[in-house]
Amino acid sequence: MRFGIRTLDEAQLAGKTVLCRVDINQPVDRASGTLKSINRIQACVPTLRELSDKGAKVVVLAHQGSDIEYKNFYTTRPHAQVLSQLLERPVQWIDDVCGPAAREKIAALKDGEILLLDNVRFVAEEQTLFEMKLRLTHEQQAKTLLVEKLAPLADLYVCDAFAAAHRDQPSLCGFEQVLPSYMGRLFEKEFCTVSQVMESPDRPCVFVLGGAKISDAFLMMQTVLERGVADQILTGGLVANIFLAALGKSIGQGSVDFIMKSNYGEYIGKAAALYDQFGGKITLPEDLAWVCGGERQEASLEQIPGDIAAVDIGSRTVETYRQAILNAKTVFVNGPMGVFEQSPSEYGTQAVWQALADTQGFTVLGGGDSITATEKYGLTEQMGYICTGGGALIRFLSGEELPVVKALRHGAAIG
Ligand code: ADP
Ligand code: MG
Repeated sequence: MRFGIRTLDEAQLAGKTVLCRVDINQPVDRASGTLKSINRIQACVPTLRELSDKGAKVVVLAHQGSDIEYKNFYTTRPHAQVLSQLLERPVQWIDDVCGPAAREKIAALKDGEILLLDNVRFVAEEQTLFEMKLRLTHEQQAKTLLVEKLAPLADLYVCDAFAAAHRDQPSLCGFEQVLPSYMGRLFEKEFCTVSQVMESPDRPCVFVLGGAKISDAFLMMQTVLERGVADQILTGGLVANIFLAALGKSIGQGSVDFIMKSNYGEYIGKAAALYDQFGGKITLPEDLAWVCGGERQEASLEQIPGDIAAVDIGSRTVETYRQAILNAKTVFVNGPMGVFEQSPSEYGTQAVWQALADTQGFTVLGGGDSITATEKYGLTEQMGYICTGGGALIRFLSGEELPVVKALRHGAAIG
């Protein structure tokens, strides 16, 4: 047991049918039917290999969104092929989730065999719960079709989907009500790593927060500042622009328009309040960059032209941030410093990411775009820990008990 959840060390697996929920939701190229990235598939391989090696009949449940999350589902068929290559053993797949065909295939599994079911979000209950805010309790989730049809075929449930741990859905929270439940190796590793950052980080503990998911960023900042987890927050991206606007600094009309257009106007007031309370710990850019005629331009805050849109932090800010990161013992990172997808506005992100790679401190990084930037600059091996979860990680750091953690604690008492 760790954190009130059973680990695989305690599981009797030989000959048992295991339902294993993973998060292998990856960007998909719909035209060619291929996956643009496989990092999450790689991350759950150790758990699946262990289950199979120990003689379990492994039934893998997963979801796959698409370019527009929750509007556009895609089959898990390509994932089976990638999994099979990574595991160096066959991975069966079926175009069914919990119907008779899937159940027949599950019942026919032999020890050590692995079957990936199709996208669990093809079952309406799985996504309408979230989308329509039906808000079924965990007991009610245990009565959904998915759980009622699959649980009787299984001996135990393993959740390795830390990246989806903030989702309150039957495939994630329903099985724990009726089956003995365990966390997989990836879940265990991610949960322990982020718990350590939250509970007793080596200090100084510096947060690097950029990007564009403003509501998440503000929720997390509030918590880590109130609890004294963060000694310093280095801001970039849209997060920084909102603070600067809140302090009445000129960031260019283009930046202000972007904030308003994104419906983040209310955060200007929130930023002002947060800065009033914790200003000493929140570091804002000294200079910003924008793009003019395809060229990068920079100026200190006092000299920003009135009409520009700031799309990156400036090079003086980069230097300040670099020193803070090099001096830190723990660095938590979420969100790029600028629009790193385009070359005139990628300098801030690239240089700060290089500092993350260079520091002796332990770096924990999460978020889809933050991971993309890490891969783009070839720094994956030099980060301390790359968390597969974005939303889950942020909600965890916001102090919430994640629904899946709650369910797994419940499931630890069964069987
Ligand atoms: P993550 O996926 O790592 O959690 P986010 O999704 O919050 O990060 O933010 C990433 C996005 O933020 C990128 O697409 C990037 O282009 C955008 N971004 C960064 N800085 C700015 C900025 N100053 N103005 C507008 N968009 C920005
Ligand atoms: Mg993102």
